Amino acid sequence: MSDFAGLRALVTGGASGIGRATADLLAARGAQVAVLDLDPSAVDKPLLAYRADVTDDTSVRTAVAQAAEALGGLDVLVNNAGIGARGTVEDNDDEEWRRVFDVNVLGMVRAARAALPHLRRSRHAAIVNTCSIAATAGLPQRALYSATKGAVYSLTLAMAADHVREGIRVNCVNPGTVDTPWVGRLLDAAPDPAAERAALEARQPTGRLVSPAEVAGAIAYLAGPLSGATTGTALAVDGGMQGLRLRPA
Ligand code: NAD
Repeated sequence: MSDFAGLRALVTGGASGIGRATADLLAARGAQVAVLDLDPSAVDKPLLAYRADVTDDTSVRTAVAQAAEALGGLDVLVNNAGIGARGTVEDNDDEEWRRVFDVNVLGMVRAARAALPHLRRSRHAAIVNTCSIAATAGLPQRALYSATKGAVYSLTLAMAADHVREGIRVNCVNPGTVDTPWVGRLLDAAPDPAAERAALEARQPTGRLVSPAEVAGAIAYLAGPLSGATTGTALAVDGGMQGLRLRPA
């Protein structure tokens, strides 16, 4: 499949997990792909790698400008860099709220601001934000994380409205529990990681975690030419968790 031939994509948080699977899939489908990440040391050819922190506007602007120059422009921005947070509103102080919002929400705003001038010059421009089922599911012990993803969902809709007449589509994916290094770290921190994984899998309607490649497939659909009439939507990739009205325990 070479439906991305001639297209140029930038993936934030593209060194690991969902971002890496997305960068690899877009490249396999013919795109030229640059990755922006805090630690891009494990990213290899044909991907281009740029070290940047999405909480630092100058670093984001510099990396986006360098990527756009190296690729000869930008058609696709995958806004994916994000971090987790556990707990109720009583468990995280103001500083932690600011820190997680800075990465998960403002990080996407900064990358979009830097990319939009390039996307305006594209004949096939798309932004895909990695949101989460946490945006709308009412998950326990995830107040801060859910609030950031709720903001990402609203941002997606507002940006879709703002840029539709410029020919720039904006959508998001809402993954459920995805088998990435992030989830691996959470499981490793449990007293019995194997039992914790089994319990997590048992809570999924499908009986298994979502794979990074499955989220990448949804992102590629929303970023690609076959979704040309789709903007301002959220695509669930959650093994049925939301659609079947099931909740993690
Ligand atoms: P991951 O930890 O495997 O990868 C995240 C990548 O983002 C890492 O390479 C990391 O270096 C990078 N990153 C983190 N902070 C950064 C910063 N300040 N600047 C630049 N890069 C930064 O995580 P993942 O599971 O692939 O998660 C990717 C996205 O998917 C996140 O937005 C997350 O909220 C979302 N998500 C994940 C799950 C899941 O179950 N794994 C579910 C729903 C949504």
